Amino acid sequence: MNYSISVIVPCYNEDKVLLECYNRLKTTLATLEYPSEIIFINDGSQDDTSKILTSLAKDDKSIKIITFSRNFGHQKAVTAGLNNCRSDMAVIIDADLQDPPELIPTMIKTLHDNDANVVYCVRINRKGEGFFKKFNAKLFYRFLNFFSEIKLPVDTGDFRLVDRNIIREFNRLSEKRKYIRGLITWVGFKQVPFYYEREARFAGETKYPLSKMIRFAASSLLYFSTKPLRLATTLGFISVFFSIIMALWSLFGKIFGYTHSDSGWTSLFVAIIFFGGVQLVTIGIVGAYIGNLFDEIKNRPEYIVEKKENFVD
Ligand code: UDP
Ligand code: MG
Repeated sequence: MNYSISVIVPCYNEDKVLLECYNRLKTTLATLEYPSEIIFINDGSQDDTSKILTSLAKDDKSIKIITFSRNFGHQKAVTAGLNNCRSDMAVIIDADLQDPPELIPTMIKTLHDNDANVVYCVRINRKGEGFFKKFNAKLFYRFLNFFSEIKLPVDTGDFRLVDRNIIREFNRLSEKRKYIRGLITWVGFKQVPFYYEREARFAGETKYPLSKMIRFAASSLLYFSTKPLRLATTLGFISVFFSIIMALWSLFGKIFGYTHSDSGWTSLFVAIIFFGGVQLVTIGIVGAYIGNLFDEIKNRPEYIVEKKENFVD
């Protein structure tokens, strides 16, 4: 069969790795017997990323570039790649070469051998990432799974191969803040794992430090799942249960005289801060969902494209 393949590469300030990334991708794609293209998404980089990409695209028409008007984030960049991909298959890969491009032919073989629609790559090891980042990433996926309705494969990033069915269905999803790995799992069809060792970043530095990762986890969770809302209700019921016990205790105390009105300050204080805390957390969770609704209702475009290079349509 005559397949075509797109490689989607989000780039944000990646001038140190781009050439190496291009060369390794090109070498790998040359070994395939079908047509291929690389779609680079320049996500508002402030360094020489734009210059390097444009010069690559000038000499090589199979290089396509989507330039955003500013930095919109990794997930938006990948979304733009999927929106603009016309091939039968697409690989989503980071620019930093942590996910080795050389795996692509084996991923395609796995897809065909299993008659699958998605090959998602599962990290069995991460080189060059600190203990904290690894621990944090592990926690991140387990935390997300606990709170989410559908089970997401753990230890996977966005590095995966998807076929046309997935691309088509993904492009029909209209939510504005897409948590890509979750949504691809949600789309369904046949998805198979592919185990690999994650390399160290080739050069440059991570754009996902701890604080950003926690924010990403929290916002993905609150956008992707409604389980936290139900958790808020559960928390409410638990605190009602405690408050009834405390109410009975103090009422009986008053009637049978084992409490005195001049004592009990500590229990009163503890009860106020405890229930105050529960209420604030709950309001916060509800507020986050209202914020998400607000974002959706504004119906702003997900990203703004400044220019596209080497696209024919
Ligand atoms: N990236 C992006 N926009 C951003 C942040 C990151 O397009 O706002 C790209 C980045 O260039 C890289 C990929 O997303 O190709 C993953 O980022 P990074 O390697 O920093 O994340 P990590 O692998 O450390 O989690
Ligand atoms: Mg990386």
